[in-house]
Amino acid sequence: MKTLLNLVRKKISDASCYHKANIPPKTKAISFTFDDAPKSAFVNAQNILNDNNKKGTYYIALSFLESKPENEDYFNVEDLKKCVTNGHELGCHTYSHIHLYSTKGKGIVEAELSKNRKALHEIGVKDDFLNFSYPFGEQTRQAKKVLSKRFLTCRGIDHGINRDRVDANNLKAIKLYENTHSLMKIYSLLEEFSDKGGWLVFYTHDVETNYSRFGCSPEYFEAVVKKCVELDIEIKTVKEMTQELGITKN
Ligand SMILES: [Zn+2]
Repeated sequence: MKTLLNLVRKKISDASCYHKANIPPKTKAISFTFDDAPKSAFVNAQNILNDNNKKGTYYIALSFLESKPENEDYFNVEDLKKCVTNGHELGCHTYSHIHLYSTKGKGIVEAELSKNRKALHEIGVKDDFLNFSYPFGEQTRQAKKVLSKRFLTCRGIDHGINRDRVDANNLKAIKLYENTHSLMKIYSLLEEFSDKGGWLVFYTHDVETNYSRFGCSPEYFEAVVKKCVELDIEIKTVKEMTQELGITKN
């Protein structure tokens, strides 16, 4: 919801809790990230990544565990365990997928993060959340302050590629939404990226034949992965990139 007040909230957030990270000029890597995340991202997209020996980052809200909001199947415990066993990363997306613009009090944000982590441990998934993505891309100064103490990076939805000096608490990203960006558009973006470099973070949701306007088809996803391989662009999880770039907590 892009009300004027929310735009102001976002602007204030952009100017606060800046977590400086340097992306060296030689960097040329892509991270594939999935938000929420629907079961098809765990099955179809992960099969494609596994077949190419690549890893992805899944920002999950555990209130979606074994649920079916808006008629979309979400992940189960086995999906999460398999994800971790196969070397993919789980990131935090709050427990209830909250709207940060309408969340009053930092205590609620803190409770949401703790609840998500506790839920992960209670179902026996041996992983921790090191990185975060903002539900709906909503950022406030209050939330950013809390998040910056807990996570190495927070991914937003500001369109762009991370180059030079960036705010690790507001990583730029590019949609892999098939209805928004044609494959040709992504190919030309990747060709340009292959020359200029940086850290490109893609994000999507469902990866299925009947994809939503927030997702893409398995064929589209596979074509993007294969193009990266063809262009010799490294594919890494957000966690791997934080290690490579030496990003530590604020
Ligand atoms: Zn989300």
